[in-house]
Amino acid sequence: MSSRRPVAAANWKMNLLASDARTFGEALRTADLSDVDVLFFPPATVAATLVQEVASTTVEVGGQDLHAADSGAHTGDLSAAHWRDAGCRWVLCGHSERRADHGEGDEAVGAKVAAGLRGDLEVMLCLGETLEEREAEATQAVLERQLRVGWNAARRAGATDGDVGRLAIAYEPVWAIGTGKTATPELAQDAHAFLRSLAGDLFGAEAAAGLRLLYGGSVKPGNCRELIVQTDIDGFLVGGASLDPGSFLDIIAGCAQRPPS
Ligand code: PEP
Repeated sequence: MSSRRPVAAANWKMNLLASDARTFGEALRTADLSDVDVLFFPPATVAATLVQEVASTTVEVGGQDLHAADSGAHTGDLSAAHWRDAGCRWVLCGHSERRADHGEGDEAVGAKVAAGLRGDLEVMLCLGETLEEREAEATQAVLERQLRVGWNAARRAGATDGDVGRLAIAYEPVWAIGTGKTATPELAQDAHAFLRSLAGDLFGAEAAAGLRLLYGGSVKPGNCRELIVQTDIDGFLVGGASLDPGSFLDIIAGCAQRPPS
């Protein structure tokens, strides 16, 4: 039986304000969250409010990005210590919007992964192929490059195999993010199975079996249940459908139906 608890993670991106965090807090405090790890990645200015709102629950909060350095002259950036200081436990690294908008390559993403781990955070590494790459049948090569090059860069920046217990991976095909096009359950399962076998090569069989792999890309209440029954899908990273408490709570309920694997 798998020890992988299902995860429902909300990526609010550049949406919602502190007043919305209070609305979510009310809904979360009365919800049944017992079978799912629930995470939120709000905008930086909203994080501390959300942390307070969910203090009496099991919900955890994270940052959407961090700098690869621990401190220093980097105007506008935030370090792992800032996220911890705001009460956050997690950080996202390598989201495709940061890769595209800020030119973050695999090496830069790996250095950020190491900074998060060094700073005692749990790290969710995002990766996934573009439509062009999928059509060129390069999906597996892209995923392999993103994970191998990223993890090797993280190692060079001090991450060790012992840190892998604080790593989760979100497979997010870029063509499915915010487009309403979800990967079919079979396609998502294939990519997740490939990532788990790659993780076996990199981290060892035991660590790979315990590694949580999330799917992201237009997950909604209407499609989460067919995805969560796939053997290697341990939860979701949700953008658009996480902005409404009702739809995100429904996705959490869908995650709770994940069969043991
Ligand atoms: C995301 O940005 O991580 C994401 C999966 O967005 P959406 O659910 O809106 O596709």
